[in-house]
Amino acid sequence: MGFRKIVLLALIVVFVSLPVVTYAADLKEDLTAEQIYEKRMDLYKKYEAVTNIPWQYLAAVDTYERGIRRALKDRPKEEGFISIYYTEDEWAGNFNPNKQDTHPLSIQMFGGVGMDGDGDGLAERTNDEDVLYTLAHSLEQFGTNEEDFRIALWEKYKRDQSVRIIHGHALVYEKFDRLDLNEHAFPMPLNYNYSYKNTWGDRRGWGGRRIHEGTDIFAGYNVPIRATAYGRVEIKGWNKYGGWRIGIRDLDNIYHYYAHLSGFEKGIEEGSIVAPGDVIGYCGSSGYGKPGTQGKFPPHLHYGMYRDNGRIEWSFDPYPSLKQWERKAYQERRKKR
Ligand SMILES: [Zn+2]
Repeated sequence: MGFRKIVLLALIVVFVSLPVVTYAADLKEDLTAEQIYEKRMDLYKKYEAVTNIPWQYLAAVDTYERGIRRALKDRPKEEGFISIYYTEDEWAGNFNPNKQDTHPLSIQMFGGVGMDGDGDGLAERTNDEDVLYTLAHSLEQFGTNEEDFRIALWEKYKRDQSVRIIHGHALVYEKFDRLDLNEHAFPMPLNYNYSYKNTWGDRRGWGGRRIHEGTDIFAGYNVPIRATAYGRVEIKGWNKYGGWRIGIRDLDNIYHYYAHLSGFEKGIEEGSIVAPGDVIGYCGSSGYGKPGTQGKFPPHLHYGMYRDNGRIEWSFDPYPSLKQWERKAYQERRKKR
């Protein structure tokens, strides 16, 4: 075999194997987080163009459902880049004898919602494009503005909390205009004196038989308290246990609860969109009584985290997350020096 023949053969081998190589690179496991965000954004933008549903709305539902998949043990992990979930019955239709039906026409005939997005003639429940198109198309039936979106969400989930969370996600995406919003911050700046230990589950002294659902970070009065994640302020005001408190919902559907504040940062209101590190209020000792009560215990931040699974919400131990964010903050500070 001459040299040119070998080169030619090599080229053919390369060309023949190219699609395989590209396909392998498309496997989720081989991609960086950035590449996954890029893939998702491409999909959202594509179906925004097809249906006029803003990409932020598609991203918001998908992000919400990603969190639900993580929180629900009985729901399978998504195969592709999109997490939106339809049951077999929803997809193929309640009365469809073939629960794995992928024929758009028979699915439609049996009242299923499944549609073919990518144009291959099949409506597949695990195909990213089919699933995203099915969602976008169902939202489009209600219209494309914010109020239409909320009504469509109510029809889909029949739960105020779900509507509120997803609407919040959409506003966060609208403000930052990107998907890469997974950063976290420690709730106090490192240059202040503070201390905390794991107090999860301890019994509390006030308000009856409740266990301690959070971590107490002790610090002086008026030490700035910062948002730990990207999210939207869901609640701000007085609560007899928590005193002046703020609740922020992040993109993992997690509710971050900051209690006993001495006051709030100016401009932070219910509905405000925050980034990790944004000051939201100040350390204090408010709570355990009627509005304005303070000084019944040493000043500290009570920090709680609550997960939503689409049905109920429950608290989990924030201590490991706090440790992790604190460690990262120290590492970053060392890098800057
Ligand atoms: Zn506490």
